[in-house]
Amino acid sequence: MAARILDGKSLAAATRAELKHRVDALVQRGVTPGLTVIIAGDDPASKVYVRNKTVAAREIGVRSELVELPASVSEKELLDRVAALNADSRVHGILVQLPLPKHIDGARVLESIAPAKDVDGFHEANLGALMAGRPTVVPCTPLGCMRLIEHAGVQIAGQNAVVVGRSNIVGKPVAHLLLQKDATVTICHSKSKDLAGICRTADILVAAVGRAKLVTAAMVKPGACVIDVGINRLPDGKLAGDVDYESVKEVAGSITPVPGGVGPMTIAMLLENCIRAAGAR
Ligand code: NAP
Repeated sequence: MAARILDGKSLAAATRAELKHRVDALVQRGVTPGLTVIIAGDDPASKVYVRNKTVAAREIGVRSELVELPASVSEKELLDRVAALNADSRVHGILVQLPLPKHIDGARVLESIAPAKDVDGFHEANLGALMAGRPTVVPCTPLGCMRLIEHAGVQIAGQNAVVVGRSNIVGKPVAHLLLQKDATVTICHSKSKDLAGICRTADILVAAVGRAKLVTAAMVKPGACVIDVGINRLPDGKLAGDVDYESVKEVAGSITPVPGGVGPMTIAMLLENCIRAAGAR
């Protein structure tokens, strides 16, 4: 039987509608949530992402500002910009779009964001809190994955979850979130042996790799919930996830499409993080 499609686009739309009410309530209390997104350089994909984020913010009443800096911007100038935003009480969320130009130490810039305004959740203080089981600001994509799994009514406690990918921004945080919900979690990476065999143990399989169609039907346990984080551009210009959607949907119990799965949820979770930051004042 074909898998149930986990429609991230509609769940994200419903989430944004709910968030709009929260923004309205904050505005009534005299607080307009403010988000500033900084982009340095001309990466076309990043430009699309930041535009989508600022437009989505504005649509629900979040005051959003896009700071576009040239690729030649110095690290000092970027750090100074972040410092000014940290001190600006109208700004509740700061997001520095990755990747940054090569001459800039990205980790240093991320660490310069005040943890309470780090709406991407990438600051070590926020990642550490998540690992310690006391989540503060949780990274948006992992949070979006969890919302999709929970919304689908998929049982997490006691289930085997396999996360393919161990980045600090997706793989590791989503593994910790699944662990907190009492899944038995395995994290795979490029050195893992028998990736297919490990994946086949998964009741919940999260692919966050960046390799088009790496996960095939033969790697998926029948009935599993498959969350595809990957966004890969194929030679013909089309987008593909890390999962071979067409074949895997015949085996899985539920699956996210690409596009229209995790991507829209990432933006919705960014807005949620920003509104939460504004409400915490
Ligand atoms: P990343 O930092 O490049 O990490 C990729 C991970 O995959 C690494 O841990 C790597 O292992 C592992 N890996 C690479 N090749 C592998 C293989 N053949 N078998 C098993 N593991 C392998 O990527 P990321 O930032 O986590 O992003 C992953 C994907 O998600 C990308 O396609 C990205 O565009 C997408 N993404 C989507 C969203 C969204 O909103 N939908 C948000 C963020 C990212 P090693 O650690 O051993 O190198």
